[in-house]
Amino acid sequence: MQKNIYIDIDGVILTRGGMPALHLDKFLGYILKKYSIFWLTSRCRGDSKYTVSYLSQFLDPYTLKLITSIKPTSFQVDKTEAIDFTRRFIWLDDFIFASEKNTLVARGQLDSWIEVDLIKNPDQLFDLMSRNFA
Ligand SMILES: [Mg+2]
Repeated sequence: MQKNIYIDIDGVILTRGGMPALHLDKFLGYILKKYSIFWLTSRCRGDSKYTVSYLSQFLDPYTLKLITSIKPTSFQVDKTEAIDFTRRFIWLDDFIFASEKNTLVARGQLDSWIEVDLIKNPDQLFDLMSRNFA
């Protein structure tokens, strides 16, 4: 069954100073072709129009077009509220709360979280693609 991919914005597709992450277009093209992609960010609360409009100040028109097909989610406190645990998934995030980590551990899904650290490795999106991360 096709995996879901949940994706954060700050620290994952945008790096320091709101700069788009390196290799972002290739990465988005790669995951959008293979998987169902969902926003998992405080910048999306059930409607991706706001998310796309927020990102329009940082991304060029080509990249913006790519992200319009990313599906919205919504959560109140923990991002894990928005995850469909009945399906296999990958969650790309630079930081998760202890309560979110506890939820993943309790469900035996801690491995589904990929910690993105673009400061330590600016080429991480490329590296993930090269090793077929999902
Ligand atoms: Mg973040």
